[in-house]
Amino acid sequence: MTTPMVEIQSVHKIFGELHVLKGVDLTVQPGEVCVLLGPSGSGKSTLLRCINELEFISSGRIYIEGEMLGMYEAPAPKWRFWGQHEGTELRRLKDKQVAAQRSRIGMVFQRFNLFPHMTALENVMIAPRKVKGISYEEARQNAQIQLERVGMGDRMNHYPAQLSGGQQQRVAIARALAMDPEIMLFDEPTSALDPELVGEVLQVMQNLANDGMTMIVVTHEIGFAREVADQVVFMDDGMIIESGTAQEVIDNPQHPRTQDFFGKVL
Ligand code: ADP
Ligand code: MG
Repeated sequence: MTTPMVEIQSVHKIFGELHVLKGVDLTVQPGEVCVLLGPSGSGKSTLLRCINELEFISSGRIYIEGEMLGMYEAPAPKWRFWGQHEGTELRRLKDKQVAAQRSRIGMVFQRFNLFPHMTALENVMIAPRKVKGISYEEARQNAQIQLERVGMGDRMNHYPAQLSGGQQQRVAIARALAMDPEIMLFDEPTSALDPELVGEVLQVMQNLANDGMTMIVVTHEIGFAREVADQVVFMDDGMIIESGTAQEVIDNPQHPRTQDFFGKVL
């Protein structure tokens, strides 16, 4: 059996009084595309942010290819052994180690947040230069490859203001790819786009899936879920209510809340 690319075990997230994730379990295999659907406020973004270590989970565990995120198991002080079965405890990783884990995970947001004073090429080059410390020439060549991959090879020297929303989002995808991530997370990547620009971004994502990238995608694009998802997960009120193939979850939902949601969306 292969190690799952992502393994989420009973994850809870609490913001003050607000219990946002209430015991989420999810496994994503290498090369799998998991589409996360659910009403606004159900905790989808929070879950992605926890996987990308933008949030620290309140309890539970997340593993990326078997490596625990944000924490490690250490021998517990002797006085704590009493009454415990194992002499270990969880401790937080150092910021630098968290940064190393995060660099394995690419994330694309609803708002592309490109640097306005930098060209597409410079936007894609900057993180590998700063974080990985690679040479200018290597970064430039790689950025060019990634921009060509998202169909932006002919606009590398354009500034964000000279690009459409769909083109900017494709640059943002290239920017994430330039870090050579093992997983890509997408949080409603087409929600801010004019309808006629949605297709080009979904196409780039589909190509990425066909190339074997492991992806977790939050989207309201049911067509994309049907075409591309290996696994569809429906979330509501901080819990995974139902998961399975698109056919199972979208076309033949078992849970009343899922039925209600797709009754409204479709
Ligand atoms: P979704 O992406 O499914 O719309 P979110 O994960 O954004 O849901 O939000 C889930 C809930 O968590 C919402 O009630 C939201 O207000 C709350 N929430 C999200 N981030 C924070 C935060 N940093 N502090 C407090 N509450 C938050
Ligand atoms: Mg959200």
